[in-house]
Amino acid sequence: MCSQESQDKFVAMVTAKAEVDLRLSDFEPVRGLKSPLHVVEKPKFPVIDYHNHLDATDPLEVLKIMDECGVERCVNITMRVGEAALGTIKKFHSTSNRFATIAWMDWSGVEKPDFADVTIERLKRLVDAGVCGLKFWKDLGLSVTDADGKMMPVDDERLAPIFEKMGEWNIPVMFHTSDPDAFFRPIDKHNERYEELAAHPDWAFSSSFYTKRQLLEQRNRVFARHPKTTFVGAHLGESGEDLDFVVETLEKNPNYSIDISARTPELGRQPYRARDLFLKFPDRIIFGTDLLPDIEMYRLYYRFLETADEYFDYPTHASRQGRWNIYGLYLPDDVLKKVYRENALKLLAGR
Ligand SMILES: [Zn+2]
Repeated sequence: MCSQESQDKFVAMVTAKAEVDLRLSDFEPVRGLKSPLHVVEKPKFPVIDYHNHLDATDPLEVLKIMDECGVERCVNITMRVGEAALGTIKKFHSTSNRFATIAWMDWSGVEKPDFADVTIERLKRLVDAGVCGLKFWKDLGLSVTDADGKMMPVDDERLAPIFEKMGEWNIPVMFHTSDPDAFFRPIDKHNERYEELAAHPDWAFSSSFYTKRQLLEQRNRVFARHPKTTFVGAHLGESGEDLDFVVETLEKNPNYSIDISARTPELGRQPYRARDLFLKFPDRIIFGTDLLPDIEMYRLYYRFLETADEYFDYPTHASRQGRWNIYGLYLPDDVLKKVYRENALKLLAGR
């Protein structure tokens, strides 16, 4: 075959392939690297999963998975309020002392002037029933309105007595304020989480009343105003895309810690900076998953934290957050012990 002929054939082949316009949703590349991937069946040290949502699960089934994966305790952030919350607490706490519960903020009556007092009374019952924390979800700042129909900022003065009381009772307050950066951007071809948002357009806040930055600054003012209260920022304090801001917030607020739940995709795509963060704040970073207990899921978290494996899938149950893979952080033992268990134990304070 003359070289012109083979060249023509080659061009024809390449052109034919290039004409295949594969849909993004059909693109499922398989990892082509020949580098080791370790299966970490059990964590190197016992684990407390400080961020999970177990309301709909069977405690006995969850315990089996916990045993299989070396999870000593699991904290259920109940999404129920009132009597339903009390029932859920009982269901888990009477099954095993390996469950703990963080309460969900009950906004009913928020328009009334006695809301803070009523909330403290409600929380008293929950604390008596054994809760170890209180969670403020992203609805504060994005949808909770007061009697005048005005959006309540996260640092609304009317909530101050609640934060003070939680400090007095030594009950940590968890904030999930705002959401990933991509959710505040238009769902278009430039959005790095396009596929996820296209599948869940209701997750986007491109026209929120406050900007993401404003919401985080409001939240940080609450940390500063209540120095005797312990705060936890769920999901890296919703700043996984900006670890400099995470560092700044941790440095300014000694009463603040973060959990890593559902943010291995963010940490694992910037492994050098992420590792530095863990080494800088080993006492203020808490293990949590935010994913229903599952053997494979826990093992991916362990691979991420313990090994130096490169370019692997991150744990997720739902759609992938973005089209990238992650890298292990091979954290040293003393840091692992703290992140896996000791930091959470301090927050549980014997509860
Ligand atoms: Zn959660």
